[in-house]
Amino acid sequence: MTGANRQWHTLEVPLRPGTGTPARCPWGHDLAVAGVRQGWSQDYRSPEWTCEACHALSAGSGVWAMIDPGPARQVTEDHVDEYGLRLVLLRPPTAAGIGAIQLRMGHTTFGEIRFSLCGPDRRAVLVSVEVEEKHRRRGAGRILVAAARARATRYHWTMLPLGEDPVAVAFWATVGALGPHNPHPCTHQIDAQVVPAESRWTQWW
Ligand SMILES: [Zn+2]
Ligand SMILES: [Zn+2]
Repeated sequence: MTGANRQWHTLEVPLRPGTGTPARCPWGHDLAVAGVRQGWSQDYRSPEWTCEACHALSAGSGVWAMIDPGPARQVTEDHVDEYGLRLVLLRPPTAAGIGAIQLRMGHTTFGEIRFSLCGPDRRAVLVSVEVEEKHRRRGAGRILVAAARARATRYHWTMLPLGEDPVAVAFWATVGALGPHNPHPCTHQIDAQVVPAESRWTQWW
């Protein structure tokens, strides 16, 4: 009851994309050496792990939630419920147009990644990643990037020019780019105006 009544959420426990048993904690420890404990995040409705090395150094630390970014775990708007952390797929209006995935919990949207996929040409263009400022540095951006990548694993990915925003540079330097920062749209994606003539972009994260 208490959970269902909470309207707004924060990412108290940091997130990492993945499935199965992790090999390293987000803080770099080899878990075969450090030891790891599995639990369950009732808020996120996902597996939660505790690194024993982190925990031994500072009680209460070393905890993170593992979110499966795979397409099978992404839901469309009509299947969204009130519970747990959800990756919500917003399909593009046209075949090669810009679609999105949002990371949400209840009524709170933490962030969104926008991208275009062309199946016939196997081209994927990453348009933007945004995470609301107060929810940054918790892994939301990583989850969104992994979720987009998981929808198009055998595609040729390109991205918009990186620009000079130090926050965006640091983000991609940490997470790893999906492809070159030089968009390479197919004719369908050009027709769908996925990449505007002027490559001036804001809100990179
Ligand atoms: Zn650790
Ligand atoms: Zn195409």
